[in-house]
Amino acid sequence: MKFGFDIDDTLINLRQHAFELYNKKLKKNITLESFHALKTVEIHEPFGLNAIEGKQLWDSLREEIYFTTCPPFPSAIETLNELVSHGHEVYYITARKKQFAEKTKDWMREVGFPILDSHFYCGMEDHEKIAIIQALKLDYYFDDKPAVLETLQEQSTKLYVKDHPYNQHLEFNRINDWAQLRELY
Ligand SMILES: [Mg+2]
Repeated sequence: MKFGFDIDDTLINLRQHAFELYNKKLKKNITLESFHALKTVEIHEPFGLNAIEGKQLWDSLREEIYFTTCPPFPSAIETLNELVSHGHEVYYITARKKQFAEKTKDWMREVGFPILDSHFYCGMEDHEKIAIIQALKLDYYFDDKPAVLETLQEQSTKLYVKDHPYNQHLEFNRINDWAQLRELY
């Protein structure tokens, strides 16, 4: 079977990693409780930043957010490697900008994800993921973002949402822990 995955906040805990970097850069000590209470994908609000300032900070730290010590979610690496060893195909579909594609692949490989160049798609807009998912005829697709999953509802691909406070309104199957995938293969 073909399994497709978003990367950021689906397989790796990027927002929390960025939140911790914001604390460091802004010399603040906003608690993780505030982080977990956030109902938005964006994380700037507890730092007293508006949307524009938040975007500027994110953009200025982007490489540090992407390519340092962002932790994968528990069992994510093991589960994806197991999928491959069971003969399944693992695809990545990330809306990170194209300029970060090679470095993202390298980083993902280094932390232990199974990556084939031919199975790695990078640099599309959120709403463009659907065309790739259709063309690949994925059996399963996993993402965290309402703006993406809401475009996919008519598909035959089985959709799963990685559980976060900002996607509670979505009525898809939910992944809390990647070990749950064992039921599927
Ligand atoms: Mg994501």
